[in-house]
Amino acid sequence: MPAKALPVPTPETAPFWDGTKRHELRMQRCNDCAQFFFYPRPYCRHCFSANTEWRTLSGRGTLHTYVINHRPPPGWEEDAPYVIAIVELAEGPRLMTNIVGITDPTPDKLPIDAPVEVVWADVSDEITLPHFRLV
Ligand SMILES: [Zn+2]
Repeated sequence: MPAKALPVPTPETAPFWDGTKRHELRMQRCNDCAQFFFYPRPYCRHCFSANTEWRTLSGRGTLHTYVINHRPPPGWEEDAPYVIAIVELAEGPRLMTNIVGITDPTPDKLPIDAPVEVVWADVSDEITLPHFRLV
């Protein structure tokens, strides 16, 4: 069975992956308009300011939308069915992730806007993924 593909940090995303490795969900916040944004980039997506800094987030949010995947790509066969979701974080940004901790996921177990919190998947020596569970 092929190995699962893993993220490859870049200079711009390294602070995010350094944070997940320490089990901290970090994103950039603009010092001019005070909004968080994601994915990582050198300027604020709201006001284009380059005056940004990395902050640690609460790890809490809500289930914005999802799909239950029954047809996994190579490497994920043993995980199917699994939930690919977009979580809206309490601080504003949305993050694509997996919802974990649900046996045999079905839509009735995954209400839209349900509160979620981050859990950590240490998938290699270098990479820890932020997953979420219902709370
Ligand atoms: Zn801004």
